[in-house]
Amino acid sequence: MYLTSKIILHPTEQQENTLKNLISIYKSEVNECLKKFILNKKLTWIPYSSLNRHLPWESKKEVIKEASKIFRDRFKLQGTINQQVSFTGDYCKWHCNSFTFASKLNLQIGQQSRMIVEYYADEYQKHLLSSGYLTSLKITKIEKKWICYIKILKPDPQPFGEYVLGVDLGIKVPAVAATNVGKIRFFGNGRELRYICTHQTNRLSKLMKDKNFKIIRKMNKRWGNKLLNIDHRISKAIIDFAVDENVGTIYLENLNHIQKKSDAGRRISTWSYTRLKSFIEYKAQTKGISVKLINPHNTSKTCPKCNRLNQSLTRQYTCPCGYKNHRDIVGALNICNYNSRRSN
Ligand SMILES: [Zn+2]
Repeated sequence: MYLTSKIILHPTEQQENTLKNLISIYKSEVNECLKKFILNKKLTWIPYSSLNRHLPWESKKEVIKEASKIFRDRFKLQGTINQQVSFTGDYCKWHCNSFTFASKLNLQIGQQSRMIVEYYADEYQKHLLSSGYLTSLKITKIEKKWICYIKILKPDPQPFGEYVLGVDLGIKVPAVAATNVGKIRFFGNGRELRYICTHQTNRLSKLMKDKNFKIIRKMNKRWGNKLLNIDHRISKAIIDFAVDENVGTIYLENLNHIQKKSDAGRRISTWSYTRLKSFIEYKAQTKGISVKLINPHNTSKTCPKCNRLNQSLTRQYTCPCGYKNHRDIVGALNICNYNSRRSN
């Protein structure tokens, strides 16, 4: 199983120039290879020694791979190749033998020299970096930031657990989970999330009026980090619960549908659901738990006992059959029972 971790680099001015230079060499060398393939109308052998000496040996391999891929893909698509095809990527790739990650990133430059670059990684990213085999990395500049994408190979986990867990994501209660054997748990602090969102919105609108963009950017970053940490915490707690409860499959609502839901609170932070969902998916995968996305149609309305549809305007869900429960628990139960609900 391959995972990708994204890390921010802090190169010095001189290192920045070296990186920029390598990126432009990488691009032009891929295009040179591509030209040769097009000229010969097929993939031909290109000796590494013919490529720019400023590229690390292993990056030359990537250059040829990159050009071959473009050539093959285009050929498959059109059956022929015209001269117009070119590589437009603004990055350079390194292979496992030409870099190491310790407290700093040690990067091979050219054939002999190395460059030590500072980077920032949070606890979670550090854990990722130390948990598998780093196979390759790609460095690029996005806006004003130097970003490094590291591809990590981890052994596939054994399939885990036998029970099903339904997870309902919301704003007032960030997540409610229910297993098919009746275990229920609430995750996260809804008030905390709501406080962050409203507090930020209020301050933002004031700053917008004053056109104070510098502080806005700073603030967005700070609150963004807080929300990021909350998502990490909630997703970890959900997966820990799933492992404790011997869960093999997690059901989540498909977010494309959630966007259509009329609940205003849900619409505010669809982006946050997307991230929380991806954290849950990723963390489940590392434990061998599979994640399935389901259609959220009527998950909050259906009575788990008699399947009748009821609209609940408060947090309390009541059904004429006598069934009563917290509305979010009803959602989680229905998500968990998705398959049996459908077959009824
Ligand atoms: Zn009922």
